[in-house]
Amino acid sequence: MKKLIAIFALLSVKVSLFAAAEFVTIGTGSVTGTYYPTGGAICRLVNKYKKETRIRCSVESTGGSVYNINAISMGDLDFGIAQSDAVYHAINGKKSFKKNPMKKLRSVMSIYPELLSLVVKTDSNIDSIYDIKDKRINIGNLGSGNETTVSYLLNHLNIKKSDLGYVGKLKVGEAPDALREDKIDGYFYMVGHPTANIKDASSSSNIKLVPISGKEIDKFIEKNPFYVKGEIPAAIYNGVPSATPTFGSKAVLITSSDVSNKAVYTLVKAILENFEKFKNLHPVYKYITKESLLEGLSAPLHDGAVKYYKENNFIK
Ligand code: GLU
Repeated sequence: MKKLIAIFALLSVKVSLFAAAEFVTIGTGSVTGTYYPTGGAICRLVNKYKKETRIRCSVESTGGSVYNINAISMGDLDFGIAQSDAVYHAINGKKSFKKNPMKKLRSVMSIYPELLSLVVKTDSNIDSIYDIKDKRINIGNLGSGNETTVSYLLNHLNIKKSDLGYVGKLKVGEAPDALREDKIDGYFYMVGHPTANIKDASSSSNIKLVPISGKEIDKFIEKNPFYVKGEIPAAIYNGVPSATPTFGSKAVLITSSDVSNKAVYTLVKAILENFEKFKNLHPVYKYITKESLLEGLSAPLHDGAVKYYKENNFIK
């Protein structure tokens, strides 16, 4: 009998240890983009501590920002990366979130800047954003941040989608092949640079990056405080020797108020306590600082993140 009790006791310890483990998933974007390796970099750091924290992190490739925001709000994903413009619209119930504000969205940190990129074939005769009229342009799949940002921008510029020769809804991961196979003349991608996606396009096709700048773009940025001017660096893609002016937003790590303080605290701690290591995991993190992680957030911080930031004097 005593033996049996001992076995039961042991089993229940095991069961409770097992039950205590928390599995968290980070929704990202196309595997060729920058969200996906960023999710991987975060999970790698989080999983270093899994024995002590009992938190295991995994990454999922998804359709992008809007998909992640919706999935987090519905409890299908614990974390996700999303453009700060989409987060702003989601939490405030604006634009495509008008009927359905995502009140549970919480910020964890803002990671790096993303820039709207217009990748076109060199022989496409597209030298400015206005030249996309009559051309075959991939805007992106529903659920991507690209698709929403580009739609707002075209609306602001009075370019109707029906003015384009073809409005592509391909996932951006498929765009480099579509370009090479001459199915499209160009595509938009809101992404952190350098990205494997545009590297791929620049080695399989002759490409150029089109500047997205000028008076109307300045007005657009002025109207939307989550956008800032930026430049895609020179010489990171074949055939693009100089910097390309454009604008962008921030890639923000988001979660839901339903996710545990412990999980959020663990993610923030794993990133911040290995910050130099994290920065070396992708060249897009080159200019980020611990302070910049708190800039450009439009959803309130999650309590678990607040706890870490307060303990470490990032915020009062
Ligand atoms: N900003 C893009 C989107 O929300 C994704 C960028 C990436 O995957 O790096 O659709």
